[in-house]
Amino acid sequence: MSQPSVLASLVSGLRGGSIQVVDLTSPLSSSTPVLQLPPEFGQTAVFELEEISRYDDRGPAWYWNNFRSGEHTGTHFDAPNHWVTGKDLADVASVPAGRLVAPAAVLDFTAEAAEDPDFLVEVDHVQAWEAEHGQLPDGGWLLLRTGWDARAHAQEPFLNADENGPHTPGLSVECARWVAEESPVIGLGVETVGTDAGGAHSFDPAFPCHSYLMGSDKYGLTQLRNLAELPPTGAVVVAGPLPIVSGSGAPARVLALVERS
Ligand code: MN
Repeated sequence: MSQPSVLASLVSGLRGGSIQVVDLTSPLSSSTPVLQLPPEFGQTAVFELEEISRYDDRGPAWYWNNFRSGEHTGTHFDAPNHWVTGKDLADVASVPAGRLVAPAAVLDFTAEAAEDPDFLVEVDHVQAWEAEHGQLPDGGWLLLRTGWDARAHAQEPFLNADENGPHTPGLSVECARWVAEESPVIGLGVETVGTDAGGAHSFDPAFPCHSYLMGSDKYGLTQLRNLAELPPTGAVVVAGPLPIVSGSGAPARVLALVERS
């Protein structure tokens, strides 16, 4: 007897409800929070719609828009060429499609981030998680759950900045280096505005997640939500950035397939 087709089993699981699709994507609108850099640097655009026609004399039977957006606005994918350390590596359109469907490990630091918004994950934390759940997935994602998606409705609580800059959780310098250079994952996904901690402008190196991950031909995913609905292991992430030729990243629809028992 031939083996049942894996894809047929997947389809039947999706239709029967034993496999659920969790949307990890933040909605895109003009109120979607965006990164703010110090004023001496260029700034990314907020998402904006420009109406072309809406069943009117500009187009009687159709509604459509143009849009303007930063590549790094809302839930988005960071390609290796986003950072100077990866400047000769892949642009977002060159990321192999096969790497856009991958398993996920979900590490939950919600309690720590609630206690301390500047909480940094160390290598020890990841290794303690591995002792309980097994190694991080080869070719997969490390998804960092911090509860920060609860703040994604507005710029101010999401960026959580004061006169010293933003205060949001992330990885320590050594943990960023370890994830990039020693762990088997292809990237880091976070709920915050960028893959680096809010205080990472003053780390050495600055923005270590960007510096080490991009330099190691790895990726970033940001502004994820609903990570609370994922198990620590076993979810499969489908990350679909727009294939902007030569682009450094792109807004992405990010979905997770989760098996329910
Ligand atoms: Mn980015």
